[in-house]
Amino acid sequence: MEKKTFVTKEQLEEIIKTYPTPFHLYDEKGIRENAKAMKEAFSWNKGFKEYFAVKANANPFLINLLREYGFGCDCSSYTELMLSEAIGCVGEDIMFSSNDTPTEDFQYAAQLGATINLDDITHIDFLEKAIGKIPERISCRFNPGGIFEVCNGIMDNPGDAKYGMTEEQIFDAFRILKEKGSKEFGIHAFLASNTVTNEYYPMLAKKLFELAVRLEKETGAKICFINLSGGVGIPYTPDQEPNDIRAIGEGVHRVYDEVLVPAGMGDVAIYSELGRFMMGPYGCLVTTAIHEKHTHKDYIGLDACAVNLMRPAMYGAYHHITVMGKENLPLDHKYDVTGSLCENNDKFAVDRMLPEIQKGDILVIHDTGAHGFAMGYNYNGKLKSAELLLKEDGSVQLIRRAEKPSDYFATFDCFDFYEKLVEKQNK
Ligand SMILES: *Cc1c(COP(=O)(O)O)cnc(C)c1O
Repeated sequence: MEKKTFVTKEQLEEIIKTYPTPFHLYDEKGIRENAKAMKEAFSWNKGFKEYFAVKANANPFLINLLREYGFGCDCSSYTELMLSEAIGCVGEDIMFSSNDTPTEDFQYAAQLGATINLDDITHIDFLEKAIGKIPERISCRFNPGGIFEVCNGIMDNPGDAKYGMTEEQIFDAFRILKEKGSKEFGIHAFLASNTVTNEYYPMLAKKLFELAVRLEKETGAKICFINLSGGVGIPYTPDQEPNDIRAIGEGVHRVYDEVLVPAGMGDVAIYSELGRFMMGPYGCLVTTAIHEKHTHKDYIGLDACAVNLMRPAMYGAYHHITVMGKENLPLDHKYDVTGSLCENNDKFAVDRMLPEIQKGDILVIHDTGAHGFAMGYNYNGKLKSAELLLKEDGSVQLIRRAEKPSDYFATFDCFDFYEKLVEKQNK
């Protein structure tokens, strides 16, 4: 499928007059339409709730849009919990799915009334020591091990993942937790990432539903919710078909009626913790070509770099690139599109066929709405960009300013060399 930008060249030229590149731009209309479709796809389930995976995009303005559709927050750290509390998302609107969890994080999650999802059987004791009791409502994360194969070759390797409990452990954990007073139980699993198939969620659901039936039967623990977690993917490449969330919802419904309803468990709530699917396609990185270099290869140098978008450098991930205003020109130039970090993996694209690029061209790097800005860092003294929201009415709102050098120096506030430098520069 042809990948189109959600913003025009004319709109971008206007935006750039106020906000220089690079910046991440988000599409309010796209976020809302997708959130609505997600909600509708699971409306057959009375207790359904999506807990947006905050780590995918921790901008409170964007999370607040999702809150309007009844979504909560999936947090995994102290600061993410703070962010959630700051926007008024507390209690059962928080799923705390963390691993290798510090004591303080458990204490804060419990204080907010979050639903705690335990990553390991040893966390039962750890949590009890941390908060002085075991919550009545609790969840356990399951890892079946081995290879999880969905279909058409899409698979992941849970057996190699650090998360979750074995089947034997989850049975033991439920017995122990029940003994210690837990009353409402949930199970959670995240077995494959960025799946671009409508089959992943239904297949995962079947596995978890069957486990739930056995768990309830054998331990007597009342299972109240099943959390299908993240993993529903997006089409990063033009040849991928987007997931159909309606078909995914129907697929899970079918399995629910097959497995849970006959077992007398037709009241179990379905939860999800999607990050990428909720936000990924509705963000892009807007950047300008500032250099052109011809040596053993042809390079285009951008004013953005891997600190703005780490996925290509980190996993060799494909992000589609549109050269604005050149959408209809032939893709007859092969480029490496680079950032300025002193790391040779700082390339947004390698050997990418693109139209001929001139310095000053605006490039849009697609699908940065999830795991884009959020994975940013400050290597090479690079500062994080601004985040902008393209609103439904076409106006633009700054939802996070770009970092300034003073932000970079802020953690050296035990010294005064930044103030002295500024003083000297102002003389
Ligand atoms: C990362 C993560 C998610 C979100 O994953 P996506 O692939 O972005 O949907 C959900 N739950 C947990 C526990 C995660 O770690």
